[in-house]
Amino acid sequence: MNTKFCTVDFKNEQDMTEHDKEVIMEAGSILKNGGLVAFPTETVYGLGGDGLDKKASEKIYAAKGRPSDNPLIVHIADIQAMEVLAGDIPKTAWQLAGKFWPGPMTMILNKKDIVPYETTGGLDTVAIRFPSHPVACALIKASGTYIAAPSANTSGRPSPTLASHVREDMDGKIDMIVDGGRVGIGIESTIVDVTGEVPMILRPGYITKEMLEAVVGHVEIDPAIIDDHLLKGVRPKAPGMKYKHYAPKGDLTIVEGDSESVIDTINRMVDIAKAEGKKTAVIAVDETKKAYRGDIVESIGTRSREETIAANLYDILRRMDTLGVDVIYSESFEDGGLGQAVMNRLLKAAGHQVIKV
Ligand code: AMP
Ligand code: MG
Repeated sequence: MNTKFCTVDFKNEQDMTEHDKEVIMEAGSILKNGGLVAFPTETVYGLGGDGLDKKASEKIYAAKGRPSDNPLIVHIADIQAMEVLAGDIPKTAWQLAGKFWPGPMTMILNKKDIVPYETTGGLDTVAIRFPSHPVACALIKASGTYIAAPSANTSGRPSPTLASHVREDMDGKIDMIVDGGRVGIGIESTIVDVTGEVPMILRPGYITKEMLEAVVGHVEIDPAIIDDHLLKGVRPKAPGMKYKHYAPKGDLTIVEGDSESVIDTINRMVDIAKAEGKKTAVIAVDETKKAYRGDIVESIGTRSREETIAANLYDILRRMDTLGVDVIYSESFEDGGLGQAVMNRLLKAAGHQVIKV
């Protein structure tokens, strides 16, 4: 298949040039006709298909090499569409939608018959999100349907934060890639299950527990995602969370502790690996970058603004593959707020290989 590559550049619908409109119209009609289009959202790039068309969902699984029991998130472009896709919508869902939509929050609700089981991985619930990215919203509207869109990476690779990442994984496998530049947040949406008595976070993201609790009171976190290393055997409620994800080709170890000991330990491990003839890389922050002796030392962002760390995480992991490093040592990040979302991804990338110093 020949994958068409198009670029758009607009911050809201009024800014759309004739070219932008043409691209969105074409992409919308591909989606309407059962094809696949990758597009930017504020979290990561999504691989979109008609969420109400089981054949389109099957194509998404095939393009990603994704296990078919790992359900897709359906994207909407207005809050009311929630009622088309889901039934028994609790008050908490309306409250959370009112506060965080459009934005990086996905809710799990009881599905209506209109949503095929191919989209929900066989579940009676459906994941729904109203993204805030102008390109995503324009595309959903242009398609005239609701768009199932997992992250646009090959299953098991880091999620794409640039159109070039999508191209690496999806060229030749999908109809079109819409390049809308680098995404803002860089990690996937927070998933909240609102079908139970108490809302439960199934995947941490930019919208934190504290932010949710400010709207709906007590919120729980699926225990299986806090540290699945310690809780082996506990099955995460979001099926996708059980898969090894985001693993770079190089062997990644996270080193946790006070900054001085972390630097010291990583440098010693780098020296040993180098002596064994290995190519080494260190994932540092702006504040510590100069202190390391790795062959490659990359800053992931600054600790004074955690969102910079989230935004660079996947790009750095992908670059590690391109650079062909054998071993990677990374600093650890705070476990609260956005740091929890970052650590959740980094721990998976490292296969939970952590050294505490
Ligand atoms: P992705 O779109 O690739 O970021 O992945 C979507 C995530 O949402 C996966 O971890 C899925 O397991 C999760 N998910 C989607 N639908 C449901 C659902 N109905 N119940 C629980 N988790 C879901
Ligand atoms: Mg994904």
